[in-house]
Amino acid sequence: MSLGTGREVAYLVAAICFILAMKGLSSPKRARAGNLLGAAGMIVAIAITFTTPGIHNLWAIALGMVVGVAIGVPAARLVKMTAMPQMVAAFNGVGGAAAALVSIMHFSFSPVSLSTLATYQVFEVIFGVVVGSISFTGSIIAFSKLQEIMPGRPITYPAQQPVNAVVALGIVGCILAVLVDPSKLVMLVVLILALLFGVAFTLPVGGADAPVLISLLNSFTGLAVAATGFTLHSNVLIVAGTLVGASGMLLTRMMSQAMGRSIPNILFSAFGSVVTSSGATEKEGRSVKSGTADDIGVLLAYSNKVAIVPGYGLAVAQAQHVARELAETLQKRGIDVFYAIHPVAGRMPGHMNVLLAEANVPYDELKEMDSANSEMSTVDVALVVGANDVVNPAAKNSPGSPIYGMPIIEVSQAKAVIFLKRSMRPGFAGIDNDLLYDEKTTMLFGDAKDSLSKLVSAVAAA
Ligand code: NDP
Repeated sequence: MSLGTGREVAYLVAAICFILAMKGLSSPKRARAGNLLGAAGMIVAIAITFTTPGIHNLWAIALGMVVGVAIGVPAARLVKMTAMPQMVAAFNGVGGAAAALVSIMHFSFSPVSLSTLATYQVFEVIFGVVVGSISFTGSIIAFSKLQEIMPGRPITYPAQQPVNAVVALGIVGCILAVLVDPSKLVMLVVLILALLFGVAFTLPVGGADAPVLISLLNSFTGLAVAATGFTLHSNVLIVAGTLVGASGMLLTRMMSQAMGRSIPNILFSAFGSVVTSSGATEKEGRSVKSGTADDIGVLLAYSNKVAIVPGYGLAVAQAQHVARELAETLQKRGIDVFYAIHPVAGRMPGHMNVLLAEANVPYDELKEMDSANSEMSTVDVALVVGANDVVNPAAKNSPGSPIYGMPIIEVSQAKAVIFLKRSMRPGFAGIDNDLLYDEKTTMLFGDAKDSLSKLVSAVAAA
């Protein structure tokens, strides 16, 4: 077998590792193994790249890798679970920039004159520049929103979407011009427009929708990388880029479906900028009933079945460990406890599964939305911890509501509902939740972690 064939076989092995890694990541039990397999594939791909004939500047490449490892390893080790979306945004932005830079370098310094290239080859280059640049600046804005460097609410201004459409049309026009005549000046204009468009189209997306945006940008980066793979004749880049592009697109679709919203609605509607909730403690003659931790502790201690429904507030309060403690205290009394997990509870997909896994909650106690809902009518107490939108019956009953159509955890079917939150403020969607005023509902106001600690003591004392 020649060295060239051996290299291609090694790349094929790396690509197979990437595919199996994705399969592994789809289950909590196999996720670690999947991650390691992906990393192994990446090591093979990088090592084999060093054997490519005519590769130059090995020291510069090695230096870049050392800098990358010095930044990446501590960043990945120290990041908090709640800061994962912005970490992904940062890494994704760097990936997009790398893909764009490879294409720009090819355009600017290629030994072959671009006018001698076939049109499809020029298209590969310009595609990498445009999509990689949009992904780069878009990821910077998404990162800044999630890191609260800039306001998380949607940033809007008059005629925003028409302006964005003009910029997009400008990009398409420049791409056509470059395809006809590969001029460096037009290429520079398209680069600037793409960088600008990345900022412009992400500004109206609210902070809580930013993870969906990141997933979409991630898919853009994958496509840009695949384009550079064509430019550099690298099969492994084409495969890896296509995998990222396709999986990012599927994830974006799954997230938008789980929220009952279309992708254009997430990108263009500035969702979350209008708050319609009154935040009042009384509504249409019904007032909110609040209880003490001791009373609720007794209610829980004498139940047969309890469903814990975690939401964004649990993640913010870092209350996952004490939630598990409460579940264990109840289980010791022979009470059946499960966690009802909504696919978009929190601010990123899988947020709750990961948080609860981190607190050593057994996987078999986590129930996905459909199976949780099928048992909800047999539940004595649904304990809603820092969740709001994902249990809001308006999603089923109010056709005019912004969240109408979003599947929900149907806690209203349980015999009693307890909400642990700090106030009557709404969730991300900014709308009232009628369930808070329902006669079977009791509020326990306070930080989720404090309230759960009080409940642990109250159940133990009951
Ligand atoms: P929500 O944002 O609807 O509600 C969270 C609740 O937690 C708030 O009402 C807040 O009330 C409460 N809260 C905040 N901090 C604390 C705290 N320290 N202690 C106790 N309570 C607290 O969250 P959900 O999880 O119900 O819904 C997720 C929302 O995010 C949905 O609208 C979903 O569409 C959206 N989303 C989810 C994505 C995902 O992939 N997971 C992606 C994009 C959007 P208070 O201030 O009164 O305490």
